Amino acid sequence: MPFSLPDAAWAASQDAADALAPLRAEFLFPPADDGSDCLYFAGHSLGLQPRASRDAVLAELDDWARLGVEGHFAARNPWLPYHELLTDATARLVGAKPSEVVVMNTLTVNLHLMLVSFYQPSGRRTKILMESGAFPSDRYAVASQVKLHGLDPQQTIVQLAPRAGEATLRHDDILAAIAELGDSLALVLLGHVQYLTGQAFDLPAITAAGHAVGACVGFDLAHGVGNLALALHDSQADFAVWCNYKYLNAGPGGLGGAFVHERHHDADLPRLNGWWGHDKASRFEMPTDFQAIRGAEAWQLSNPPILPLAALRASMALFERAGIQALRQKSVRLTAYLETVLAAVPGLTQLTPRDPTARGAMLTVRVHGDAGALVAKLHAGGARIDLRAPDVIRIAPAPLYTRFADVHRLGHLLLAATY
Ligand SMILES: *Cc1c(COP(=O)(O)O)cnc(C)c1O
Repeated sequence: MPFSLPDAAWAASQDAADALAPLRAEFLFPPADDGSDCLYFAGHSLGLQPRASRDAVLAELDDWARLGVEGHFAARNPWLPYHELLTDATARLVGAKPSEVVVMNTLTVNLHLMLVSFYQPSGRRTKILMESGAFPSDRYAVASQVKLHGLDPQQTIVQLAPRAGEATLRHDDILAAIAELGDSLALVLLGHVQYLTGQAFDLPAITAAGHAVGACVGFDLAHGVGNLALALHDSQADFAVWCNYKYLNAGPGGLGGAFVHERHHDADLPRLNGWWGHDKASRFEMPTDFQAIRGAEAWQLSNPPILPLAALRASMALFERAGIQALRQKSVRLTAYLETVLAAVPGLTQLTPRDPTARGAMLTVRVHGDAGALVAKLHAGGARIDLRAPDVIRIAPAPLYTRFADVHRLGHLLLAATY
């Protein structure tokens, strides 16, 4: 086990042998108090700015200045089909066909759009299975959709909680809950990776279990995209939604994405429509009747914001350069090293599963003591760590720009702060 000795020389040797190491230079690091690059472990919350983002955005501002409305056709990258520039890279990243993905809106908006199509309670089949620890915005979205159908969220939303004394869900308990709900279950909606605990779920197995009882299955990939190597098409999931500003570095409030499995592309699903989902050939003839694009783009409502798309393109180019498989391989090793380092620090209990296949990059840790004070000390030492009050911290070594040496330095800061 090469990770059992978290010594500086070992960490340096891993960085020296890391084929992805040059990618770090493509990012801008906020400065620590002493002016050096901070140790950035908050990429699960907001990814760092790629150096190329600024020029990508400025290029569109310049084209707007130069061309005005003609930029829709005459910009260096014409704005009319601009969002399509993200499609192939996004499809590769999430393991989908290009027709199954679209970059648009933000996560919660996309979740609403998908719920309109994939939550169709009828008769006995009304229930939605979620995690008790689901991200609040997902809960608000789901509860409001349940009410729109005239149902009571309390009666309709079934919340899966970890067993007493446990921090994460057991896979078998998820499958058992789905089987038990049977024909009362309309939708399974889970996070992936779980935003708080870092637990990764088995998408294909959960999807198969949901489909076996006749339910739709969707996933919130906010913490999974750009983190795990996904195979959305093969998972058979009905839909997925995500944001691009966490591991994908799209920038604050950046655009999200959505996946709709191919088998729904010809289905006559209920859907909220807008002109950007209308057939491209006749869109500008301004016809009275809506005719959907075949694929995930049918869910688009408006013409998309070019500046955030431009910033996202700069980051996606780096993912294309690295390849998600290689990133994930590095990530597994980097997070295992972080796990070893954290185990050497007293007063911390890891909540994230120890099985590397059941987690992504991030480790969540319970602090026995004053977590706020610990995070403040780490901050003063130049490290950016996320605090979930009162006693939980989340640490994400994003493999695009984090070195083994950074994890080692964090270990030193943690030891200095806790002793
Ligand atoms: C970050 C995150 C969101 C954010 O939603 P926005 O609509 O992009 O603000 C939603 N769900 C989960 C699970 C998240 O981690």
